[in-house]
Amino acid sequence: MVRERQGAGLVASPGAGWPEDPATATTPVAPDAAAVRELAATAGSVGELAARESVCRACGRLVAWREQVAATKRKSFADEPYWGRPVPGWGDDHPRLLILGLAPAAHGGNRTGRIFTGDRSGDVLFASLWRCGLAVQPTSVTAGDGQRLIGTRMSAAVRCAPPENKPTPQERDTCAPWLAAELAAVAAGLRVIVCLGHFAWQALWPQLAAAGCVVPRPRPRFGHGVEAPVVASAGPADAGPAPLTVVGCYHPSQQNTFTGRVTDAMLDAVFGRARELSGLAPTEA
Ligand code: SF4
Repeated sequence: MVRERQGAGLVASPGAGWPEDPATATTPVAPDAAAVRELAATAGSVGELAARESVCRACGRLVAWREQVAATKRKSFADEPYWGRPVPGWGDDHPRLLILGLAPAAHGGNRTGRIFTGDRSGDVLFASLWRCGLAVQPTSVTAGDGQRLIGTRMSAAVRCAPPENKPTPQERDTCAPWLAAELAAVAAGLRVIVCLGHFAWQALWPQLAAAGCVVPRPRPRFGHGVEAPVVASAGPADAGPAPLTVVGCYHPSQQNTFTGRVTDAMLDAVFGRARELSGLAPTEA
């Protein structure tokens, strides 16, 4: 697996053997916000979009942080290579259910290259998805481990790990075209979006509105288990039942799980309901 020097440290070279790496050495790199908008709008497929996301360098602070983390590492992962790049959307290319988080974790997705993979939040999340028939394995440890989502895709409002898990509003807005393009690319079959946490909930609504969805006004308040129906298009021919439901879910962060704010049963209730709303067959695999 070839790694290349970027900024403060070594990161995975695009297309050089990292498992599930969507990019190649020729994938175009976005150096700024304008390029993000252009490259997101012209990707042409979910796979190429993920590839372009995974090499983006538009946010100077986040690029420096993700690469510094990849260079210094956590002691327990000192012998492991770090991905050190943006973590793109992952899962089914034609999903009925999309799970949206805040951003990758510094020593989780930023280490493994797969969203929600390699940290405690992901352990709790994937176990619930497996119990609810939305993942083929109860764990997601590293890219290339055989894990696969069923009718489901995962993404994040911000693709790079931010310091203290707090992206700035400018970073959120710079990254938004990647999310908007992903939503547009999977919109046809999408029936449910589960937002993990308030930040993801807030970040989603402008992108749905920009995609032509009729979003509720005032916007629904975030809460665990809250369901907000959305009409997928403002066109008069689409006046039938709302085909898309946005569902709130407390983030399975270490703090939330340790304090009992969110439990396995609470996650299972949300993802069981999401599965029901998405129309996925109980035995589909
Ligand atoms: S946060 Fe998004 S826009 Fe900013 S560098 Fe990462 S992928 Fe690019």
